[in-house]
Amino acid sequence: MSDQKEPKVIIVGSGPAGYTAGIYLGRANIPNLLFEGEQPGGQLTITTEVENYPAFPDGIDGPELMMKFRAQAERFGTEIKGETVTSIDMSSRPFKVTTNAGEYSVPSVIIASGSTARWLGLPGEEDFFGKGLSACATCDGFFFRDQEIAVVGGGDTALEEAIYLTNFATKVTLVHRRDELRGSKIMQDRALAHPKIEMAWNSTIDKYVPDENGNLVAVTLLDTVNGEKRDLAVSGCFIAIGHTPNTQFLGGQLTMDENGYLITNADRTSTNVEGIFACGDVQDHFYRQAITSAGTGCMAAMESERWLGENGL
Ligand code: NDP
Repeated sequence: MSDQKEPKVIIVGSGPAGYTAGIYLGRANIPNLLFEGEQPGGQLTITTEVENYPAFPDGIDGPELMMKFRAQAERFGTEIKGETVTSIDMSSRPFKVTTNAGEYSVPSVIIASGSTARWLGLPGEEDFFGKGLSACATCDGFFFRDQEIAVVGGGDTALEEAIYLTNFATKVTLVHRRDELRGSKIMQDRALAHPKIEMAWNSTIDKYVPDENGNLVAVTLLDTVNGEKRDLAVSGCFIAIGHTPNTQFLGGQLTMDENGYLITNADRTSTNVEGIFACGDVQDHFYRQAITSAGTGCMAAMESERWLGENGL
């Protein structure tokens, strides 16, 4: 390894949880190495304005907030590498962490690998990536200026994306499979009152309709109550139906729930393997907020620090 001090802790992931763990470890004088993964900065880098992160009364852009997290971790000595962890061998100690670029030995690991946006899983869905289908309004909204768009989902992400997309689109249809939204009351009120947003209740997407060049021109909606189908002409469709925890690289060595979220000990971030801690969205399917992720990142760092100390490491 190129760094002078061997890391005592490897942090997997660069969202609010991972960087907060780095900040706390750095300030505790514990050498730590953070792997950014495939989406440096995590999910907040593909979100619009963050209005609910405390201490930013006027809101802050997601990417800017993550740059601040990163800078603060670097200030206290976190070494940051743009590598992705592909496996961790927990069968012997120190643990062996393998990335797409190398292999590292370390006594303690903090898993902060977050979760990834889900797709509908319709046949040929990937064919529409870059041709009208997206899971990131911030990244792609601009391409749909003065056009009609559909957003799928009924949670806060879908509501937020729908509202954001009204900045570009002439009309946004929010396609939701039930007759009741899941998102928070304030976001529901904003979306339902918005003159450019129309609801397609009790509806799912049956298929994407391409033009002769493969570009999306419509989605076929299926009414979940009466089974009727109808085409909705849109040139953009944004999928916002939740996330899958990024735990595949762990190969089932840590205890997970039925959806793949890591299970930690009660009121702790410790896992079933001593010395391995988990924080942020990869172990939290309930709150899933930047502030709660940062909070559990702090917990993981403190627990890791104490565990290293107790074990003379
Ligand atoms: P959620 O799990 O809250 O919502 C997912 C939505 O997608 C639900 O409405 C669900 O329908 C629908 N859905 C799931 N699978 C399918 C499918 N196969 N076909 C059609 N629809 C489907 O995820 P979000 O990403 O919206 O939010 C995750 C968390 O992050 C929440 O806690 C949310 O509050 C938070 N968040 C907060 C924000 C903020 O405060 N600014 C912004 C964004 C997210 P159904 O309701 O029927 O289950």
